[in-house]
Amino acid sequence: MSALTTHNATAEEVYLDRLLAAQLLLPTDLPGIYARGSAFAQIMEGLEHAITRYGRTKETILLRCPPVLPRSIVEKCGYFQSFPQLLGCMCSFTGGTTEHDALMQAVDAGDNLLPHLELADVVMAPAACYYVYPYLAGTLPTEGKTTDIENWCYRHEPSLNPMRMRSFRMREFVHAGTPEQALGFRDRWIERAQEFLTLLGLTATVEAASDPFFGAGERLMAAQQRAQALKFELLIPIVSDERPTAVMSSNYHKDHFGHLFDIHTPDGQTAHTACLAFGMERIVLALLAEHGLQLSQWPRTLQARLEVN
Ligand code: 5GP
Ligand code: ZN
Repeated sequence: MSALTTHNATAEEVYLDRLLAAQLLLPTDLPGIYARGSAFAQIMEGLEHAITRYGRTKETILLRCPPVLPRSIVEKCGYFQSFPQLLGCMCSFTGGTTEHDALMQAVDAGDNLLPHLELADVVMAPAACYYVYPYLAGTLPTEGKTTDIENWCYRHEPSLNPMRMRSFRMREFVHAGTPEQALGFRDRWIERAQEFLTLLGLTATVEAASDPFFGAGERLMAAQQRAQALKFELLIPIVSDERPTAVMSSNYHKDHFGHLFDIHTPDGQTAHTACLAFGMERIVLALLAEHGLQLSQWPRTLQARLEVN
């Protein structure tokens, strides 16, 4: 598959073609869904280890979860209200033999299969941190709690821009505590995140940002998020100065998740939460654009830091 079509290819599409040609990414028939080739996977592993060494302390709670999430969690968090366009819902076949015959006819005819399936009780995780909050229910210790989670995430945004994948990995550090603790965590991590990228030879700028809310309330929600400085992104111009890519982002949720999941501080107040997300593939794509597609040509210190050669 070549990303290049008859129209004038964007810088992002040209980059995708180079990544496919070098077998860093391997194509499927679908835009935004790729297998990771050997070199890409090696960088990814090294990056995971580097983040662990840099960000995890002995107090950090380690959590690893399936890439599917109970649908009840996204419903409770209002994901259907705010981002229905991004959610990957799952369906299952629950019928008997008669219904199966009808399903097979539909498969053979290439018909819509949806009438033969049922909405499942799980969805694809749209972000890693949704799994964390239910497990924080109850009273936090005085120092709050920090969780380290990594997960496959899905967002329904088909694109030939390799920086916009539909299925990608997100590593997050999530803190729950008092408002001061959550904000302090957020502020410290924005600085530390920039420093981490510098260690990888990457230069990022920090900008206030907003999420792609759906529908009529979209502008208002996004404006509020910016006005309250709730979301920041670390941007790198991977292939285009005009369209830099958010390789990491931080979110301060105030008491949103604390309320929803009954998380309290020792004095009985609703807990505040903040998270810091590493967009794993995007960081790898930034590394490849900055240091070249040949790992053997990368600076020695970087090779050592990411355990590649
Ligand atoms: P957010 O929840 O802030 O939208 O996403 C968190 C992080 O996940 C982003 O900073 C970014 O690095 C990564 N991310 C978001 N959307 C995509 C995407 O479409 N493709 C890839 N590869 N990473 C994404
Ligand atoms: Zn998060």
